[in-house]
Amino acid sequence: MTIELIVRGGTVVEPTWQGPADLFVEEGRVAAIVAPGAAAPAGSENARVIDATGRLVMPGGVDPHCHVGYASGEFTSLDDYRGCTLAALHGGTTTIVDFAIPSPGQRPLDVARAQRAKASEGLCDSALHASVVAWDDSTEEQLRTLASEGIVTVKMFTTYRGETMADDDTILRTMQTLADIGGMVVIHCEANHIIEEDQRRAQVRGEIDAGHMSGTRSALAETAAVAEVLAIAERLGSPIYFVHQSTPAAIELVSAARRRGIPAYSEGVAHHLVLDDGKYAGPEPERYVCCPPLRDRETVDALGGYLFNGEITTLASDHCCYDLAQKREHPHDVRSMPNGLPGVETRLPVVFSEYVVGKGLSPQRFVELSAANPARVNGLYPRKGALQPGSDADIAIWDAKAVWTIGSGGLHMATDYSPYEGMEITGRPTTVIVRGRVVIEGGELVDGTPRGRHLPAGAVDLTVF
Ligand SMILES: [Zn+2]
Repeated sequence: MTIELIVRGGTVVEPTWQGPADLFVEEGRVAAIVAPGAAAPAGSENARVIDATGRLVMPGGVDPHCHVGYASGEFTSLDDYRGCTLAALHGGTTTIVDFAIPSPGQRPLDVARAQRAKASEGLCDSALHASVVAWDDSTEEQLRTLASEGIVTVKMFTTYRGETMADDDTILRTMQTLADIGGMVVIHCEANHIIEEDQRRAQVRGEIDAGHMSGTRSALAETAAVAEVLAIAERLGSPIYFVHQSTPAAIELVSAARRRGIPAYSEGVAHHLVLDDGKYAGPEPERYVCCPPLRDRETVDALGGYLFNGEITTLASDHCCYDLAQKREHPHDVRSMPNGLPGVETRLPVVFSEYVVGKGLSPQRFVELSAANPARVNGLYPRKGALQPGSDADIAIWDAKAVWTIGSGGLHMATDYSPYEGMEITGRPTTVIVRGRVVIEGGELVDGTPRGRHLPAGAVDLTVF
């Protein structure tokens, strides 16, 4: 064994334990976790040693929901694989999972292959969710081909009629096929008919602008769609993963289904867990236009409770990198505004600060939510999301006490604003390691070589609970 990198003196954090330990890296993988100060094997004299004294040594984050250069209607989000992974790394995330979402008329297989080819531009590894919008005679074969190529998770939407919305038959058939091949649908649930009624009423009231975002997409629309999709999963016995759940009611439906034996999972997104709908009453409400919208403070606080009890499975960013010019293009009508918030870089620091430092969430649970569980449900564990012998040496070394203020100028995402502008944060990653190479040091990029790989997923792990 020839060790090339040693991380000494830190506190290693895994979901099931944490404590003082040193970490040996060999050929880009974790070789061993050893007692503090343990000697490296003979032949390792040239190993680089990183001093992590006083720091938390965590597996690099896995962001299970990240839109890179997403084209939707007239808008395309502004980053590419290099830009998105650069920002991810600065925020302690070392694996992103992107989406290949077909425009009308495109085949899921073709879109996924084209998007997958971009992974090599990234500064870290990535995986991909395919997407099905409309079922046809070729879809099952395309899904089986995708699975054979390591893409087993498929994004679906119950909303955005005429763009990405899939009907119930398409959702059922896709779930059925994926259950058969070890995959899983990951679904955006908002009942489109209710949303359209919400928006029709909002327009009649003259309240269809960003300042009234909350009233244009009701919480009821979310729970209605979650209940319908859970019924399909229950009938089929298939797994199901709900992206960006924004209300306790939606999470409770999933938790109840899980107690009935359905492998159903809830994803929480940083902005729904931290920001509330008071932002829509502020001077620039378009900065916060996202779907589902930000909810009221009581809902946000109740949602956060599910980070502690295990009923939120994963923590995601739902990163979508629009800038203010795009957000301001149609300020008076949220229906034509690009929805989505930049967040791949801020996901971990914001939730660490608000919940680990602020509310006593354990670092172990933080690692489980933000790295281990996202890797598991995407068939990437324990290669990613873990610090175990054999895992890729993707490591984020955190200064849990660093105090800093979020300002768009200090961030690396391809936009000119952050929804967290001005927020004081405690804790940040200072050194980030990708497959044994130090890429961020002292908060600065020190190695910008694109070494990203597309990660073929194994079967999704349905034993998360
Ligand atoms: Zn999304």
